[in-house]
Amino acid sequence: MRVTWTRDEGVWRLVFLLDPEDGTTGSCSDGHPVELRTNSCHVHTGAGGGSPHPDLLALAAWTVVAPWTRRRVTFDRPVSPGFAEALRTGWGVDAGPVGEDARSGARLAVSYSGGADSMAVATMFPDAPFVHFQRVSHPRVPNRWTHYRAEVLADLARRAGRELHIVPSDLEFLLSRPRPGYPEHHAVTVGALLLADDLDLGGIAFGYELGSRWLGGDRYILRYTPDNPMWAAHGKWGRLFTAAGLPMVLPVGGVSEAVTMRVALESDLREHVRWCLRGSGDGPCGVCGKCLYKELIQAAVEGRPMRTGLTAESAPARSWQEPPPYGGQEMIEYGCARVPNIAETPFARAAEHLRATVESTRWLDHCYPPAVEEVPEPWRKQVAAFVGESIGLMTDDQARRVETWGTR
Ligand SMILES: [Zn+2]
Repeated sequence: MRVTWTRDEGVWRLVFLLDPEDGTTGSCSDGHPVELRTNSCHVHTGAGGGSPHPDLLALAAWTVVAPWTRRRVTFDRPVSPGFAEALRTGWGVDAGPVGEDARSGARLAVSYSGGADSMAVATMFPDAPFVHFQRVSHPRVPNRWTHYRAEVLADLARRAGRELHIVPSDLEFLLSRPRPGYPEHHAVTVGALLLADDLDLGGIAFGYELGSRWLGGDRYILRYTPDNPMWAAHGKWGRLFTAAGLPMVLPVGGVSEAVTMRVALESDLREHVRWCLRGSGDGPCGVCGKCLYKELIQAAVEGRPMRTGLTAESAPARSWQEPPPYGGQEMIEYGCARVPNIAETPFARAAEHLRATVESTRWLDHCYPPAVEEVPEPWRKQVAAFVGESIGLMTDDQARRVETWGTR
């Protein structure tokens, strides 16, 4: 794989060329198949991000080209030895040329989507700047996904009133399958990477929670994943980000979506929270699968019946009419155990299968201690303090629920 970055009037353009051994079909680090459609994309950093450290440019490129690279990657600028080494040990890929010093920075930025998880992170770090990825169309790919309201999400991020850097990019349209989407989930950080030197960034915080980090996430078979290659600090992506002077920080990595929901709803940013990608400026659509799933969690957190017009027959509710496993199953258990009118909701069948109780799901109200230990040192104290004050750590028995997830 050969990658080249060029810049023109505040827009970085990435072009990449496959080597003979590379392929246009590949898989994301979580195993999901991805197919390449075109070989260029753009990242709009505006006046900032004029000359990022080569490791930052290389990492930004790698989040895009990793699925299709087999044996080697040739960057257009020399990278640091540590960065090349992290690619070699993590992916078995030869990277070069080598010959630059490593970089470092001091501040933490929040990769901010506007959903409850990243809002919980923002609440933990009230002074951290936001970097928001905004999907824009690709000049060479027709946009057939106009129901995705990226401009609404960007506007909500603006209204949060925090230091905010919105970075539009068309990189999701590189994929023909699934379409559109991030080639690697880490591509959401391209803006933060290209702006990292300007903003003196030394870490980037994500909203990945307990399910994504430790319970296998929704694309995995559900099982305990201490060595999660995507999000473990010692995993291959964790080591690569650290080599680029921008360690990944998962402040809510030890807590469930019930906790991030509660923290977000108690936050002064509450009115700007939005997990639905389809709704207008007036509110979430209320009829997509994501809205239904999050309504289950919110109703559980607020101790009230679900409010939804969807039924078991509605298309977005289809997956919950089957027996488990379900994506985000721990939260389905949590909601089914707590929502008063569950038998009249699209989750009635799931509730019968899961037979969860308030007691059997209480572990999901607290924080898994190793997740705090995993936060890099400069930010660990602040996470630990927030957890101590507002969430509480799991007991040993509760932590065992995490560690035996998927084996019962
Ligand atoms: Zn929706």
